[in-house]
Amino acid sequence: MSENSVFARLAGGAALSSSLIDAALAARQIAAGTVPDSSAMTHAWLFTGPPGSGRSNTAVAFAAALMCTGEIPGCGECPNCRDVLAGKHPDLVHIVPKELSISVDLMRERVVATYLDFPSIADWRVIIIEDADRLSEGAANALLKTVEEPSPRTVIMLCAPSLDPHDISVTLRSRCRHVYVPTPSIAETTRILLADGGISEETAQLAAAATWGHIGRARHLALSEEAQSRRAQVLHLAELVYHREAAFQEVGSLVTRVEKETLAELAPLEDEEVEKVRNSFGAGVRGKGTAKMTKGMESELKELESKHKKRRTRSQRDAFDLALVDLAGLYRDALLLNAGADTSLTHPDFSGLARDLADRNSAAALTSCLDAIMQCRQSLGYNVRPVVALSGLVGRLRKACRVS
Ligand SMILES: [Zn+2]
Repeated sequence: MSENSVFARLAGGAALSSSLIDAALAARQIAAGTVPDSSAMTHAWLFTGPPGSGRSNTAVAFAAALMCTGEIPGCGECPNCRDVLAGKHPDLVHIVPKELSISVDLMRERVVATYLDFPSIADWRVIIIEDADRLSEGAANALLKTVEEPSPRTVIMLCAPSLDPHDISVTLRSRCRHVYVPTPSIAETTRILLADGGISEETAQLAAAATWGHIGRARHLALSEEAQSRRAQVLHLAELVYHREAAFQEVGSLVTRVEKETLAELAPLEDEEVEKVRNSFGAGVRGKGTAKMTKGMESELKELESKHKKRRTRSQRDAFDLALVDLAGLYRDALLLNAGADTSLTHPDFSGLARDLADRNSAAALTSCLDAIMQCRQSLGYNVRPVVALSGLVGRLRKACRVS
């Protein structure tokens, strides 16, 4: 496979990419009218795999291959491939839900209404729906009716965590060809990061290990100094546990930091949504009917505000959960060292601290630390305030490590 191929940066190995390339070759013949039909190609696909395995990147790569004009589908160099990868191809509809549920309105507007349209420049139109496990019942039904009849030139690709009926309805799943994208190994994640360019081998390896082969998180950690320093601050907590009040103070600063950083990440999206509502009411226009319009706008803005509030809470909770997963990785490393296991560590750059924890604590104490972290993750899930949950965690860690 060529280095530039859209499939070169995917997990899942050669078997997965060659079956998608075969499908794209068949699709080409169907579009050219040289064959009416082929078992290699179908109009509805379902990509599953654990978070971070790259199921949506696989769908995007396949979309590029279907539109590609290069000799081997998915060349990565033709304008169609490049525009699909950049997310700006006119024949690609890419739905990335930002809310917990995908509404029937969104499904009607962006999928049902355009399903029978012909592509504008490429051979095929592609609709990718990420997080299809968030389809509301109405949205799933609307989608099901749509995919029951193949459209001549539109391909639908759904991405979901698994085939569990909670993630994807049995009937919808039965209309799609299933592609499983496995979690990449640490070596594979490293290779994918290196293919991106601009990342040193050491950084790529570290990021791949620290995120357990979650490609998106590994990439973020490798590239973002903020993410690196936040991770260091979290792992450092394990050391501060031995320094009386310092750990509690650090919890305060960590909580403030995570909250601030999440708000900053969401701000551009929130601003954009507010702007959209204002524009839809023609904000700034004066004249008859303005008062009525203002009232409508105000109520929509209020609704949007409460949506933003929910989303902020959720993003912050996710950020704390990931921080705790990082911390658990460190205690797991200590437990492995304690047992003398010769295996690769989650946080190789913090092996000194892990060794220190292993020397100071028994296996039982380290297991209690892991339990305490799990308990903290659960209380965050029950909406306990982060500063309370994390302070409780520090107390439990001190107790487990017998720090008086
Ligand atoms: Zn191409």
